[in-house]
Amino acid sequence: MYKIESTEIMKKIMREYFLSLDSGTKKVAWCTSVGPAELLRSFGFEVFFPENHGALLGATRTAMDFIPEAIKCGYSGHICSYTTSDIGSYLKKQSPLQKHYGIKGAPKPDILVYNTNQCREVEDWFTFYANEFNCPIVGIHPPRYLDEVTQDEVDLVVKQFKKMIPVCEQVSDQKFDLDKFKDTIKLSREATLLWQKVLKTSTAMNAPLSFFDGTIHMGPIVVLRGTQIAKNYYTTLLAELEENVKNKAGFLPETKTRIFWEGMPIWGKLRMMSDLFTSNDAAVVASTYCSSWVFDKFDENDPWDSTARAYTEIFINRSDTAKEKMLEKWFKEYNIDGIVFHDTKTCFNNSNAKFGMPQRLQKITGVPSLVIEGDLCDLRFFSEGQSITKIETFLEQIEDFKVLN
Ligand code: SF4
Repeated sequence: MYKIESTEIMKKIMREYFLSLDSGTKKVAWCTSVGPAELLRSFGFEVFFPENHGALLGATRTAMDFIPEAIKCGYSGHICSYTTSDIGSYLKKQSPLQKHYGIKGAPKPDILVYNTNQCREVEDWFTFYANEFNCPIVGIHPPRYLDEVTQDEVDLVVKQFKKMIPVCEQVSDQKFDLDKFKDTIKLSREATLLWQKVLKTSTAMNAPLSFFDGTIHMGPIVVLRGTQIAKNYYTTLLAELEENVKNKAGFLPETKTRIFWEGMPIWGKLRMMSDLFTSNDAAVVASTYCSSWVFDKFDENDPWDSTARAYTEIFINRSDTAKEKMLEKWFKEYNIDGIVFHDTKTCFNNSNAKFGMPQRLQKITGVPSLVIEGDLCDLRFFSEGQSITKIETFLEQIEDFKVLN
């Protein structure tokens, strides 16, 4: 049976990361998942990512226990279920982190830092905690929905980055150190390029890493980028996957169909979804989600512009035209037969099937699409039976189409 051996190393790394956060030895910055982690690490902060906690609440299916608590406080059950489940978990003083790692839960923040390059929800979410913990909050508000990221946008974001420095200095009790910032960017760049190579191993016809595996193995690039640990991990994982490609060992013995996953994972149904595709000989080989942590513009020799550009040009922050170009390129690169759009009920920002994109993409690329409804954490919005029928029918149609052509 196919197994990625590095998984055990990854689990150990994640455990150590959470234990270190809990140790209370360093000041803690909370940061959004595509926020300025490098700047925060250069000030010596431990960095905690509430979205990673949200994903854990989804994956352990505990989110549903917590969402009602946030709703009682006035947060709608139709807004981001990372936000509502995480706030509910805080209010109930319960977290899967207690059971998994034996720690109290999320660490107390000394500073909260967000970037609305992904959504405005993160600002509201972090503001809740700024009020609860009475601690400083700073944010970056880049221009959104961009066709191209020009120097004007980069300059604006750089100014916002630099405005955070005095607050970080005050909270961390450390002066800003440009060399440390550059060193962190270098480590981040190296790890992110390794992560990109990891993902690209699945351009091979015997793909060694599925989208579902990717959602697990992306842990270190989300929470530990800018550290040697993340770089080492992806060096090891890449070596293993490249070896598998060389030996023609893929996660499927025989692949009939290659699928692209667009949108958020359905965290509480990862296993079920993975089994559904594999039992139909369909390999989900690429996704916009896992590719969101490839910041190939990082450049330690141009620290401000390159980080501003890297964080502003991410997929979620782009216009539909720019997104379609990116998808078209990925379809060719990964030899895609069909795309599944996950229309995520509580994340409008990461749902791209609402304004005609599937139809436009099919016209440009010839790649057929399927839209399924669901959610990242709130399983009330996911119908398992309906999704299975839709996906199996879609895969059959792709098969028939391939036979006829
Ligand atoms: S991008 Fe979507 S899932 Fe992520 S924090 Fe924003 S609203 Fe929530």
